Amino acid sequence: MIRSTVVSWLSSSSESSTASSLVAGPFDYPGRVRRLQALMSEMGFGATLLSVGSDLPYFTGYEAMPTERLTMLVVRAIGEPIMFVPRLEGPRVEPGEFELRVWGESEDPIALVAKAASSLERILIGDHTWSGFLLGLQTALPDVSWTSASSVTTQLRMRKEPGEIEALRAAAHAVDRVLARVPLEVAFAGRTESDVSKDLQRMTVEEGHEVAAFAIVASGPNGASPHHEPGHRTIEMGDLVVCDFGGRYQRYFSDVTRTFVVGESTLEQREIHAVVAAANEAGRAAVAPGVPCQEVDRAARSVIEDAGFGEWFIHRTGHGIGLETHEHPYLVEGNDLPLEPGMTFSIEPGIYLSGRFGVRIEDIAACSEAGIDALNQTDRSLISVQ
Ligand code: ZN
Ligand code: ZN
Ligand code: ZN
Repeated sequence: MIRSTVVSWLSSSSESSTASSLVAGPFDYPGRVRRLQALMSEMGFGATLLSVGSDLPYFTGYEAMPTERLTMLVVRAIGEPIMFVPRLEGPRVEPGEFELRVWGESEDPIALVAKAASSLERILIGDHTWSGFLLGLQTALPDVSWTSASSVTTQLRMRKEPGEIEALRAAAHAVDRVLARVPLEVAFAGRTESDVSKDLQRMTVEEGHEVAAFAIVASGPNGASPHHEPGHRTIEMGDLVVCDFGGRYQRYFSDVTRTFVVGESTLEQREIHAVVAAANEAGRAAVAPGVPCQEVDRAARSVIEDAGFGEWFIHRTGHGIGLETHEHPYLVEGNDLPLEPGMTFSIEPGIYLSGRFGVRIEDIAACSEAGIDALNQTDRSLISVQ
């Protein structure tokens, strides 16, 4: 059936030092696969199918190219996983503890995957798998019941290993270095938001990131839009400017926000900034093992509510971060999941006064046995830029 080359590699126990520079680690990918298999057995799933998205690199170190050619890892509850990769992408794959099967241009990869997952009833499918591939698999395997892989993979991915926390710390320190350079090197007044955004992205790469993923620069009234797209507005003296940026550093993400004032601040700007800084502090102080996620949100939110701005804090307090900028756990009302050592997340309260200005202060933190392990360390006071 499979006309393409069949290659099987067994990894050596030590990670190759010549592995792609994009891969943080070394990480115990086979150990992660075994933990996935144990959870699958416990929960009654026969296989996990992973394509584009961050689950595949989490379990293998390999990231699928987001193209029309299917890359798919088939992890059955027992046995060695099989990775199906288009023949022309085979050379990109570092050897791992999986069987690599490259498929040729005239083959039907859906049929190959369906055969590898045949006779199973319940299958987990990666959340980011393209619907076209899933529709093909549903046709090829009509009796299977499908479930989002995140219902299982989240259990593993949100509990970071020490090496992952160190990767996130390195990423956070890199954006901290960018923030330290901003008042010294970046001109704001008279330039557009997109000019400043480009500076932040360039510095994010200069400080060691592989890529700058985003750089929101929201000045004056635009600051009241939390996910403002930096545009052509010219920044003026007296503006507050929300700068929210980050990138990918050895595959793990940074994400930090500071709000600067251009020139002199007003009393009202200082007061509202102080409320947000106190909310950030209260959120960080609430972090401890066993504390439900929503309690961190409540701690930050109550400071803003008590100051009379509750209706202007229009988003959750934070999101998990790791191989993706937004992942579990979410620090939001209604999430009673208890924090555990190894969980990593943002704490990013804000106040958004429609038509006027906004303030947000965001840090990445890890939960440790002792409480908070602050990955970002930068000054949270209202800093003046020019
Ligand atoms: Zn955001
Ligand atoms: Zn952010
Ligand atoms: Zn964030």
